[in-house]
Amino acid sequence: MRALVCESPGHVVLRELPDPEPGPGEVVVRVEATLTCGTDLKLVRRGHPKVPFPTVLGHEFCGRILHVGAGAPFSEGERVTSAVSAPAATVASAATDIRTSAAPRSTTGSGGRGPSS
Ligand SMILES: [Zn+2]
Repeated sequence: MRALVCESPGHVVLRELPDPEPGPGEVVVRVEATLTCGTDLKLVRRGHPKVPFPTVLGHEFCGRILHVGAGAPFSEGERVTSAVSAPAATVASAATDIRTSAAPRSTTGSGGRGPSS
């Protein structure tokens, strides 16, 4: 997979990384859209006390479930979005009708279900 990696403050590179495999309760998401947010910018500029380097940027994303690990309550092909800033309750988005909820964590964040179409 291709990923934008921050290796240290001020050092960001586009890299090919091994395709991830889901562990128990995890999923692999084929990211269709992502962005960089204020946290990403702070991390690139000065680091973050809870994020060790190197780290993959783009923890706010949407996409489709590609692989499902044992026991993960998702199905391949489901549309999902990260919910890194949302509370553990259902929140409706008027713009996209994508719902966020508490869900298993992935290597880049937590996710929520979206419409299946
Ligand atoms: Zn963010």
